Amino acid sequence: MNDQVKHFEIVIIGSGPAGFTAAIYSARGGASTALFGGVAPGGQLLQTMEIENYPGFVEPVVGADLMQKMLKQAARLGAAVFNEEIASVDLSGRPFRLKAGSGREYTAGAVIAATGAQARWLGMPSERKFIGKGVSGCATCDGFFFRGKEVCVIGGGDSAAEDALFLTKFASKVYLVHRRDQLRATFRLQEKLRANPKVEIVYSHTPVEITGDAKVTGIELKNVVTGAGRRLETTGIFIAIGHTPATAIFKGKLNLDEEGYIVTDEKMATSVFGVFAAGDVMDTRYKQAVVAAGAGCKAAMEALLYLEEGKK
Ligand SMILES: Cc1cc2nc3c(=O)[nH]c(=O)nc-3n(C[C@H](O)[C@H](O)[C@H](O)COP(=O)(O)OP(=O)(O)OC[C@H]3O[C@@H](n4cnc5c(N)ncnc54)[C@H](O)[C@@H]3O)c2cc1C
Repeated sequence: MNDQVKHFEIVIIGSGPAGFTAAIYSARGGASTALFGGVAPGGQLLQTMEIENYPGFVEPVVGADLMQKMLKQAARLGAAVFNEEIASVDLSGRPFRLKAGSGREYTAGAVIAATGAQARWLGMPSERKFIGKGVSGCATCDGFFFRGKEVCVIGGGDSAAEDALFLTKFASKVYLVHRRDQLRATFRLQEKLRANPKVEIVYSHTPVEITGDAKVTGIELKNVVTGAGRRLETTGIFIAIGHTPATAIFKGKLNLDEEGYIVTDEKMATSVFGVFAAGDVMDTRYKQAVVAAGAGCKAAMEALLYLEEGKK
């Protein structure tokens, strides 16, 4: 083996709550541990100012602060944290081989994929301007902030329907805006939406612009059939058009489902023995920081057991 190639017993790819929790457990479990986190480690929580549902914080915690604490904790326990991306992986032999964006190569006894996912956005400049100021990609995370307010959900699938129903617990009214003349959500969810007096489904409309000053005050829509405009006065806009898992480097190397998520068993094992996955990259349902952290813990414990077994 080339002397330039550094070896770690466990290499973690990804720097959200799943990756850092995996690094904490891996380093504390006695394995030489490297975490590759990309140029700006911290994951999706860097996009949010107020996290109220991560245990241990009485007052809301800023996403960047929480992630900085996780990074420092992993480093204090001995994990090497690299601010670079893994550009490609070779999982066909042992040890596993990884190439960073810088061209540097590494080998690993076990790999944990914790590369996360990205909430899909509509792509309008006004949407970007108001993320965290009324525009949200996560109803479970931010619904609580809209008690007694009128809100709007964009989307037509199961997650949009579930988000709309969830938001009726807090909001005085929930508009569900969908570009087609019928929803894609399951029939049962559609029945629940229709039965809920707080929900108004706005069919055949697409968002044109989100308006506001410091915070969102409304959204301009366009009827895709007639071209007519409609404005909704709303302070909360929830984009529920799906997530894209960050699995490009694993395509053709690990089993992925039809949406690109890594398929794992209950022990976080992937289709390649010795490669584990944790967090939003394999979680098609919950997509919460605490769930990702829990999955990272499980993946690291399984990776440590896998390495132990290999020594026998
Ligand atoms: C705006 C917003 C607000 C949210 N608010 C909350 C909240 O209040 N409470 C809550 O519980 N959840 C919240 N969430 C959801 C939460 O952020 C996610 O569930 C959680 O971050 C998932 O963690 P993860 O570790 O799986 O991955 P991620 O957080 O997605 O992190 C993965 C990281 O890995 C990096 N990466 C990807 N590929 C590579 C590679 N090849 N090499 C190196 N690094 C790579 C990515 O750049 C990213 O930094 C929110 C999400 C968003 C978008």
